[in-house]
Amino acid sequence: MHQYIAGEYRDGRGPSGTRIDPATGEAAETLRYASPADVDDAVAAATAALPAWSGLTPGERADALLRLAAELDRRADELAAVETAQTGKTIRMSTEFDVPGTIDNAAFFAGAARQLQGLAAGEYAGRATSLVRREPVGVVGSIAPWNYPLQMAGWKILPAVAAGNTIVLKPSELTPGTTLLLAEAAAAAGLPDGVINVVTGPGPSVGEHLVRHPGVAMTSFTGSTAVGRRIMALAAETAKRVHLELGGKAPFVVFDDADLEAAARGAVAGAIINGGQDCTAATRAYVQRPLFAAFTARVAELMDQVVVGDPTDPETDLGALITHAHRDKVAGFVDRARAAGARVLAGGAAPDGALAAGAFYRPTLVVDAAQDSEIVQREVFGPVLVALPFDTDDEAIALANDTPYGLAASAWTTSLARSLRASEEIQAGCVWLNDHITITSEMPHGGYKASGFGKDMSAYSLEEYTNVKHVLASRESGPERPWHDTVFRVRR
Ligand code: NAD
Repeated sequence: MHQYIAGEYRDGRGPSGTRIDPATGEAAETLRYASPADVDDAVAAATAALPAWSGLTPGERADALLRLAAELDRRADELAAVETAQTGKTIRMSTEFDVPGTIDNAAFFAGAARQLQGLAAGEYAGRATSLVRREPVGVVGSIAPWNYPLQMAGWKILPAVAAGNTIVLKPSELTPGTTLLLAEAAAAAGLPDGVINVVTGPGPSVGEHLVRHPGVAMTSFTGSTAVGRRIMALAAETAKRVHLELGGKAPFVVFDDADLEAAARGAVAGAIINGGQDCTAATRAYVQRPLFAAFTARVAELMDQVVVGDPTDPETDLGALITHAHRDKVAGFVDRARAAGARVLAGGAAPDGALAAGAFYRPTLVVDAAQDSEIVQREVFGPVLVALPFDTDDEAIALANDTPYGLAASAWTTSLARSLRASEEIQAGCVWLNDHITITSEMPHGGYKASGFGKDMSAYSLEEYTNVKHVLASRESGPERPWHDTVFRVRR
């Protein structure tokens, strides 16, 4: 059963789909997707649960989230196994990154729920006291992608419910497993029925119905920029709040004073993490010309050492990509770049032999591609790094900013001045200095430009899920208010 509504599993009343194991190409599971009526039921359940949940004290909601963190910890092995089975990502990633990251998020938002920020109450307008209330928005409808199914579910659900909202979440139709388990764990932890609901199915049917739903007060979406634009247009019909976490094309800028070995290792790890299916993955390495040859040689050498294989084997570094069609899309970018004159210094092909049946692709380094070519400008979303040389610092910053995206970036340098300049002038929601990828629950994650707006994680994301209300109480005792005289004069 693949819907979780009002505290129980249900069969969807929509069409069926087949989940394919990306590592083997074999059918793994038949999924019963939601119908529009199932989405309506989920919104009704979230609406019914809202008054009691939003009426709890922040401390009571925090207690529930701490119990959820403990419950997720108890189920860590199962969550990791399902995450790897449905995505093809390595079991090391699921065990050491996805599951603990989500548990930490639950614990973080338990604390953050008790720390809502705002202006101090005070007498700003003469003899009147103003105060700010932060209130839940209502029923949140969220839509998540397939690359980090559990973490994305956590990033959507946890701040929303911590702030007193209830939620209906649609995971990717490819990867509903761990999102359903998260909802089940929340129920086991004592979160009331209807606070967290999960509907599964394709975007155009289930997702659009959720976004359009008049009972949903806010849409929070993580996914591609193309679908984000569509969501924003649909949300305009009901003028609902939109939070968009979209695609990325992170630059990785290596200045000539950088620690070359640190940069090369950072580039490989940053490019192949999660099969490169990471919106912040290192995709464009701009390397100052004196280091370019040594950097690309070392990256190619390290990429050739990456162990591609069975995602469930703890020794595997790079598992399968999400689907065979996606693997072919990644390969298409590399093949077209090669045809246009680029050179491939590592990878550039799917492995053969025992891995041929799965959606695998080797870590790939491309050089001699043009800055305006599609492999530099568009999201490949695979384990593919393109390296380009630059001469001046001005050029590096300009190249780093030269895509429609602005999600994340890194600069590699031992110079304080260059570090500060890169952190100021690169247009991205996150700039790492001498690192790439590291995230933490306390710090915001979100985009500039076509990478969207709004923040996940951190206290900033809690703010996304609240309305700010100004309450003003007059302290005048009589019938007069000082400003009335400006508008009309009582003449007798
Ligand atoms: P996608 O946009 O194809 O799908 C994302 C979700 O939207 C899925 O649940 C899908 O079913 C749903 N959807 C598709 N069409 C829809 C429609 N018309 N209406 C409503 N819902 C619809 O993205 P994907 O391929 O699942 O994920 C990869 C993308 O996600 C990449 O672009 C990646 O950069 C992005 N991403 C961004 C972040 C971030 O934080 N900015 C994080 C992870 C992934």
